Amino acid sequence: MKQIDNIINLFYPNTCRICGRTLSTHENYLCLHCIQNIPRTDFHIKDSHPAEQLFRGKIEIEEAFSFFYFTPNSNYRQLIHQIKYNGEKHCGQYMGTLFAQELVRDGKLQDIDIIIPVPLHRSKERRRGYNQSEWIAKGIANVIHKNVNSHLLYRKRKNESQIHKSLYDRWLNTQQTFQLDKSTNIEDKHILLIDDVVTTGATLLACAEALSGLKNCKLSLLTLAITQ
Ligand SMILES: [Zn+2]
Repeated sequence: MKQIDNIINLFYPNTCRICGRTLSTHENYLCLHCIQNIPRTDFHIKDSHPAEQLFRGKIEIEEAFSFFYFTPNSNYRQLIHQIKYNGEKHCGQYMGTLFAQELVRDGKLQDIDIIIPVPLHRSKERRRGYNQSEWIAKGIANVIHKNVNSHLLYRKRKNESQIHKSLYDRWLNTQQTFQLDKSTNIEDKHILLIDDVVTTGATLLACAEALSGLKNCKLSLLTLAITQ
């Protein structure tokens, strides 16, 4: 979204976050046209796809879902930016609901027991005021009526800036920064782990490593976007 669009949204919040058109009373955040044109991945109806390939051989997952492609200069990419940094947490929740509705319609998410958002470091969450992944998780919970657990997984220390680091360095940097809250006893569950965007998969992988300490649990992954 261009700066002018941000200003429009500030004063006229009832406009489409993608194209800036005024929304009708039955539309929320996105107009019907922009919902139709979401650059969907449709991974959930494909056998092999980039999200699954990112994790193959590294962790055992049931399924990996991503709603849309995160392409440069796309307004849908800007939408993630708004959700993440610009206070649009309710829009994140809405997008979670929208995606979950489509997945459920196609027979997915049936056996999920618990929804876990990728945590932010506490100081970062305080600064931002919210964890965008938690709001996406809430949107999914609205559809599948399962609990969001935001306490089980926590981030141990702040990541150093990941700019100028190699992929392996980034992976090392993210690794072991997530820990399980041992006071929560979770066994025999199918966990749905939520993040806003998947790029290298390092963050989700690090979370999955931490979650692998849970007894007899299965894991699926869900992100709103995936980089191409
Ligand atoms: Zn629109």
